[in-house]
Amino acid sequence: MFTDSPLSDGGPGCNEQRAVGRFAPSPTGDLHFGSLLAAMASYCDVKQQDGRWLLRIDDIDGPRSVPGSADAIQRTLEVFGLEWDGPVQWQSQHLDRYRSSLDELVKKALVFACNCSRRSLPSGQIYPGNCRNNILTRDQQSNDYMVPDHALRIALTGQLYFQDKVQGTQSTQLEEQVGDIIIWRRDKLVAYALACAVDDAQSVSHVVRGADLLSNTSAQIAIMRALNLPIPRYAHIPVAIDSNGDKLSKHSKAQPISSLAALPVLIQAWNFLGQAMIEAESVSNFWAQAIKLWQIEKVPNTMRMCCEP
Ligand SMILES: [Zn+2]
Repeated sequence: MFTDSPLSDGGPGCNEQRAVGRFAPSPTGDLHFGSLLAAMASYCDVKQQDGRWLLRIDDIDGPRSVPGSADAIQRTLEVFGLEWDGPVQWQSQHLDRYRSSLDELVKKALVFACNCSRRSLPSGQIYPGNCRNNILTRDQQSNDYMVPDHALRIALTGQLYFQDKVQGTQSTQLEEQVGDIIIWRRDKLVAYALACAVDDAQSVSHVVRGADLLSNTSAQIAIMRALNLPIPRYAHIPVAIDSNGDKLSKHSKAQPISSLAALPVLIQAWNFLGQAMIEAESVSNFWAQAIKLWQIEKVPNTMRMCCEP
């Protein structure tokens, strides 16, 4: 389905307009050091280009949302001097957009219904395509094609390339390395990959995030291409791990950064990202220097680096 050149870099819309970056946390807990790294790298990347930085709350997974978390995230960003442009965006307000993207993929005969149970699939492996025969037809599209107790998957085939500003050229054999991912969940919620792909393609030109999402990116680009949407440029920064080798995330026991003094943590994040030394007396002074000095070429191109604030 997708075969392209390793030379393709970014997509339409990247050059002619102001750069737009985004920070897109899920409201599932406090920000931790790993989220600060992604926010900082994305912020510096677009602010240096006089671009806009959006805050998007990825709140489509209602069952996992933690009440009060979206507010706490906004307060923490403010304390850390990370000012977003325009109103906060909420994925839960984009459901029509996701549904029409799904309709379009169904029209292109790329979507099939899958009722494989988690138990019936080899754990930790790529989906083997068991239900590809259940491709939804146009007829089904005019009705409601949400088959009870089935998830919807997109059939992904071919080789996909993209340039990552930190990790270099990425090449993915979609069938073998990604598989037919779920785009609409069995519980009738849009899946993260579809929501993220549609939102990024529609409003973001530069995506900077943790390297743990690198394998997601190929799937998201494949979805954008299937929908004929512009493809943002990507940069994946190393994931911070603790001394036990565990990712610093909301799921681990990582300390929330809201409980820490902002300036020293900002400087620590800056150093983690391999940047030239900054001595700052205030948060605003830190950012004034950081936006000037930022060099994405200096960010280490490892996938994981040990660091605890
Ligand atoms: Zn299946």
